[in-house]
Amino acid sequence: MSTLDERTGAIGRPGEAPGRDAMPAGHTGTAMGKIAHVLVVEDEQDIAALIKHTLERSGEMQASIVESGDAALRAVAEHQPDLVLLDLNLPVLNGMEVCRILRARPTTAALPIIMLTARTTEADRVAGLDLGADDYVTKPFSLRELGARVRAVLRRRQQSPVPTGSMYQNGGLVADFDAVAVSVNGQPVRLTRREFELLRFLIENRNRVLSRDRLLERVWGYDRFIETRSVDVHVGRLRAKLGTAGARIETVVGLGYRFVD
Ligand code: CA
Repeated sequence: MSTLDERTGAIGRPGEAPGRDAMPAGHTGTAMGKIAHVLVVEDEQDIAALIKHTLERSGEMQASIVESGDAALRAVAEHQPDLVLLDLNLPVLNGMEVCRILRARPTTAALPIIMLTARTTEADRVAGLDLGADDYVTKPFSLRELGARVRAVLRRRQQSPVPTGSMYQNGGLVADFDAVAVSVNGQPVRLTRREFELLRFLIENRNRVLSRDRLLERVWGYDRFIETRSVDVHVGRLRAKLGTAGARIETVVGLGYRFVD
């Protein structure tokens, strides 16, 4: 337990006290239109209260707090929020378990989740993202950064509703998953089956970071013994074939890849 560290390091930094945690200059706070409801799942009451205060002060969000993993699942079932801010270290059910359960349920499979944790290793970050978290904030964090991340995830999600149907079309890129056909600016692109599956999985999880291990598992399958390095090679080829649309597959250093909608 690192309650003290979390408090002093995260939230008690000079200049980051809630009263002084102003939005960055030029921030357009009303971009989201409606008031977003954020569920804060954090058992440390001081931290939860500061997070709530930070999110609500811009006037574009309303936050509610629950203090355990099982309470989070109940709250989501009763009234689905627009985003869940999920501490990993929780009583009853930990954050990883909550994330796993939410992702497994069809109604919450695409619910935006940002994980909060004191753990800092890359393995932990990757584990969180593999469970489907949209982003990951490591304690100690600044309240300003946390607010910015929450807004970024909400904005991305609002701009790109969960894919429905078997066709993706945006910015000159058209991927017809039924016909197994891809084109960029009207020109057909010839992809191998593997490249096509890679593109499909990236698009289905667009705006979300996917680790190399997760891509390997989903695109190549468990049965294949293959090095994570070959994911990089395939992504490189796919990018090159997609031409101008290739830049939408971003490398997220130390984590993996993200298709940007
Ligand atoms: Ca905690």
